[in-house]
Amino acid sequence: MLKPNGNYRNLKESYLFHHISQKVEAYRAAHPDLPLYRLGIGDVSRPLCGEAIKALHAAVDDQADTRTFRGYTPECGIPEFRQAVAGYYARRNVQPDPDEIFVSSGASDELGDILDLFDVSSSALITQPAYPAYIDASVMAGRKVSFLNAGPGNDFLPMPQADTEADLIYLCSPNNPPGAVYYREQLQDWVDYANSRGAVILFDAAYEAFIEEDLPHSIYETQGADRCAIEICSLSKTAGFTGTRLGYTVIPKSLEREGMNLNAMWVRNRTTKTNGISYILQKGGIAVFTDTGLKQIQENIRAYKENARVIMQALDAAGIRYWGGRNAPYVWMACPDGMKSWEYFDLLLNEAQVIGTPGAGFGECGEGFFRLSSFGNPEDTKIAAERIRKLAKGE
Ligand code: PLP
Repeated sequence: MLKPNGNYRNLKESYLFHHISQKVEAYRAAHPDLPLYRLGIGDVSRPLCGEAIKALHAAVDDQADTRTFRGYTPECGIPEFRQAVAGYYARRNVQPDPDEIFVSSGASDELGDILDLFDVSSSALITQPAYPAYIDASVMAGRKVSFLNAGPGNDFLPMPQADTEADLIYLCSPNNPPGAVYYREQLQDWVDYANSRGAVILFDAAYEAFIEEDLPHSIYETQGADRCAIEICSLSKTAGFTGTRLGYTVIPKSLEREGMNLNAMWVRNRTTKTNGISYILQKGGIAVFTDTGLKQIQENIRAYKENARVIMQALDAAGIRYWGGRNAPYVWMACPDGMKSWEYFDLLLNEAQVIGTPGAGFGECGEGFFRLSSFGNPEDTKIAAERIRKLAKGE
């Protein structure tokens, strides 16, 4: 008799963005003439860079001609794409072999799929507040999940304690939602911890391109990470590929557990469960990693960072404490006057027509905090930031 995957019964209702849109729609229906200012989105708003667009068009043309047409591509990535990513790492003195790089449809897909490599008895340790997909993918797979809480006391960068139990460890840096970035020494401690107990770190580097200070972009900037870490990356926020879909995952060849090689296992997984990623998209990705492409994506990132600066300036002027913003596209603020995060959401919507994301939606220890995104357009961001300031000052 067929049985559905009962683990789905253990998923918590995922109502954050649904609940936000319900509230926003109700407000809009009641106040159709008032403009709304959105600082809630995690999606990008600027188009793909010129180099990527040129390469995507050229790749479409390749598919129109028998001489250049490409059918199936190698499942783990076309060699040129894997080399381009390896070259991107080499700029930071990390030297992965192209065979250690796997193309993907984006980080979300990989964060769930990669769990195939680990027995279901391996538990997952997740730092909270967290990107919700970490928890849900582990619960769907029937894994035990435990949490390590982040908060102002650890600058939203939790570290393992002597009694921390973990098999799989999700780390995200710069993290979403608090926008905090681990120092090199902290990442080294995590790597040493993982190696000392045979754990594996799943390192989500989706926002690495936003780092501007001297902080690690990759977990492989530490010693020994090639024996305990998988890095999951995406062109979504780096290069505006949220709707185009492309990413990559690094699995070192030296990563082994119980005599099984995780890189070889992932080759086997991809060659079984995928037939590769679109040739056209990979050509677009290769163009992102050229000198010109990298310069162009930095222009987009600079524009988002200018938005973050405007938001941080307004919070400074209002005397509101916040984290992130400097090396990440998110500013994570403490709700004024000890308000709860949904209370502040309602206040901001009703009194200032500004939409943000309540911290409680990212886990219990997100309560009392609020996420503001820098991915919106500059004019709206300026107006929204000024409204947040005025509301806090009672002007
Ligand atoms: N990881 C984090 C921390 C994210 O915030 C997001 C998207 O918001 C993703 C991964 C997903 O990225 P992708 O678009 O590559 O699936």
